[in-house]
Amino acid sequence: MTGGRRVRALALVSSGLDSMLAAKLVRDQGIDVTGIHCMFRFDPAGQEDPQSRFDRLFGPLDIPVQIHDVTDAFLRMVLDPPHGYGKGLNPCIDCKIFMLRHARDLLASLDARFVVTGEVAGQRPMSQMKPTLFHIEKESGIRGLIVRPLSARCLPPSIPEKRGWVDRNRLFGISGRSRKIQIEIAESLGIRLYNQPAGGCILTDLNYASRAKRLFRERERSAITPEDMRLLRPGRHFWTDRGVHVVVGRDEADNGVLEGFRTGRWVFEAVDFTGPLVLAENVRDAADIETVAAITARYCGRNKADRFRIRFAGPRESGEVTAVPVDDAVLNGWMVSS
Ligand code: SF4
Repeated sequence: MTGGRRVRALALVSSGLDSMLAAKLVRDQGIDVTGIHCMFRFDPAGQEDPQSRFDRLFGPLDIPVQIHDVTDAFLRMVLDPPHGYGKGLNPCIDCKIFMLRHARDLLASLDARFVVTGEVAGQRPMSQMKPTLFHIEKESGIRGLIVRPLSARCLPPSIPEKRGWVDRNRLFGISGRSRKIQIEIAESLGIRLYNQPAGGCILTDLNYASRAKRLFRERERSAITPEDMRLLRPGRHFWTDRGVHVVVGRDEADNGVLEGFRTGRWVFEAVDFTGPLVLAENVRDAADIETVAAITARYCGRNKADRFRIRFAGPRESGEVTAVPVDDAVLNGWMVSS
């Protein structure tokens, strides 16, 4: 309570343990905490409704969570992150700056005074070394207004600590990669339900990153959409010598996901045999149709036939061709792999 008003804070949350602990440690000091989860939709896989997931995790902590879909703005950042990528397509420094700026822009409208994060000094090489934490804080535009309850005591006091809104003595001074202390804190606070750290970020998936970086090279970056990013997840991906992007479903689950991407694309399927659903982009002429049909034939089963009837339907025309499976050496040269 300051000046008769309850102190409010925003906590940037994921479903991992660190952000849960951070939010809970501040909530336990009598501060109203609202969780903000910035969601970007680059994965078409059906998952549990995010609001239900966060309600289940944070409801027992008395912390309401708002889900903010930031996909479009986040994609613009991912296409050209000023601080570069980690091992995959993960622009962790710019991601953190992005999220903090998002929270900063909400402070006034949600009547909150500061932002809480689950960052731990020294935990991740790219974004959580101390100098990087300070740089991220400066770039976020809310210098001094970020409380990191898990590492606060090994960092300079924030404004909320200096003003006594938050009791620094009830925060921790964790640094490094070990998660032992966090697990002990979770046990002492009765938190048993949480996800594993950073397991969910699709941008750290090396296979996904290879596909995305290839897309960035082949396509004008400003023309890339969130749907393009979602299409990178399912199937096998190929880029032919003539710049045709081909996605081949690996199994029934992939084929089901690819069904959702038919609109505006070329679709290839075997007529007489059960085979994959194949999508293609940038098909310009009959030669490209033959090439994609040959890729489709390759995945219809080697022993079934020498030639396959392949049905195709595209934005400009549809029809049927007979195709011989493409040679594996040629195919391997077109395949995108990590
Ligand atoms: S792992 Fe993913 S979500 Fe986490 S900071 Fe890096 S880019 Fe952002």
